Amino acid sequence: MSDCIFCKIAKKEIPSNIVYEDDRVLAFKDINPQAPVHILIIPKIHLTSLMDINEENSDLVSHIAIVTKKIAAEYNIDQKGFRLVNNCGKEGGQTVFHLHFHLLGGRMMTWPPG
Ligand code: 5GP
Ligand code: ZN
Repeated sequence: MSDCIFCKIAKKEIPSNIVYEDDRVLAFKDINPQAPVHILIIPKIHLTSLMDINEENSDLVSHIAIVTKKIAAEYNIDQKGFRLVNNCGKEGGQTVFHLHFHLLGGRMMTWPPG
């Protein structure tokens, strides 16, 4: 997707503060952090939302779970606790339509979210 901001970040056409990268995913700091730790984890391929996950590509989601654990340990929030969020679609609060997961931590989270 040529006009997708997260595709551009994945291709390093737009700078970001990268905290983790491998062949399938990229993780970088959110530009507008909502917690002391706020990292976005994205697949390098363009998927619009979680609704694009299917039997063929669902291994990407389990891989993101493993990557989340690694980053949480690196930021010392693995034992304290953290939140992994996916906003899916307009009413889910999604504003960037390239699949991403928010890793939030470093403060007490509240529930339910707004
Ligand atoms: P959503 O609302 O779609 O779940 O989350 C999109 C997130 O992307 C927001 O938290 C927003 O701050 C972040 N974001 C939007 N544009 C950029 C950008 O250009 N760079 C970075 N690092 N984060 C961005
Ligand atoms: Zn994209």
